[in-house]
Amino acid sequence: MKVQRVDHIGIAVNNLAETLLFYEEILGIKCQGTEEVAEQKVKVAFLPVGDSELELLESTDPEGPIAKFIASRGQGIQHIALQVDNIEAALAELKEKGIRLIDEKPRYGAGGAKIAFVHPKDTDGVLLELAERQTK
Ligand code: ZN
Repeated sequence: MKVQRVDHIGIAVNNLAETLLFYEEILGIKCQGTEEVAEQKVKVAFLPVGDSELELLESTDPEGPIAKFIASRGQGIQHIALQVDNIEAALAELKEKGIRLIDEKPRYGAGGAKIAFVHPKDTDGVLLELAERQTK
C-alpha cells in the first residue's frame, strides 16, 4: 500500500454556515463548494489548504453518524483521510494484516472519491478513512 498524502480532515459541526464564517472570514480559507452525501447523511463543505482539504460535515439527519458523533463527543475533528493509490488493494492488505475494517468494500464519498473507513479500535482511536481519487 502506498499512502500518498493527507487527503482531508473531517470536522463535525452543528451548522456549516456558521462554522464557515470562522474559516472564511477569520482564517481567509475559501470554501470551494458544498455537496450533500445522502448515503452518509451529511452536507459537506470543502476548504482546500495546500495539498489537502478541510471538510466540514453537518448532519442532515439526527440518526446520521455525524449527529451521533456530536451528541457523544461534541463538535470537532471526526476523522482523518489518507489518500492511497489503490483502495481495493489497501483494504485487502489491511485485512490480511488483521486490521478491522468498517467498510470491507469501498463506497463513494464526497467529491466522487472511493472511500472506506478503518476501525478506530485498530488505529489507536483515530477514525481513519482511506480515499482513492481519480485525479489530483
Ligand atoms: Zn472524509
